[in-house]
Amino acid sequence: MSSPSVPAPCRSAGPETGVADPALSFRGAVPEMRGEEQRYFDYCQQGRLMIQRCPHCALHVFYPRAICPHCTRGDLEWVEAEGRGLVFTYAVHHRFPPGFEGAAPYVVAIVELAEGVRMMTRIMAAPEDVSVGMEVRVAFAAAAEDFQVPVFLPVEPAA
Ligand SMILES: [Zn+2]
Repeated sequence: MSSPSVPAPCRSAGPETGVADPALSFRGAVPEMRGEEQRYFDYCQQGRLMIQRCPHCALHVFYPRAICPHCTRGDLEWVEAEGRGLVFTYAVHHRFPPGFEGAAPYVVAIVELAEGVRMMTRIMAAPEDVSVGMEVRVAFAAAAEDFQVPVFLPVEPAA
């Protein structure tokens, strides 16, 4: 096989497609990645929130992995998440761990995506503006130079 299993990040995406918003940036760390995690973060660098879906049982899967946790079969396929969800639970952090910097307090949450999977992330809003069950949408924030991660913003109610 000559084609690599991990696609190279595409840097030519237009400005409307998930380029990190400088206002959301914080100083974090680039995780050690391999396999499916590497592929997930490569998609993030393209501004795409991608999750997996099992072609056998049709359920979505997150975190990235090789085997479906629902039916234990392989061949998981990548699909683009809608990028909307609800805050399942959250915590307000008042101090950053060593190596991380940004505005505190900040909110770390478990967001349940429209596809039914839950992911740990940050809600980029003041703690008093966050509540369980609130609607959120994905955005991307730079957590290190040339490394962006998905975060979530409150969905503004329609005027
Ligand atoms: Zn399955």
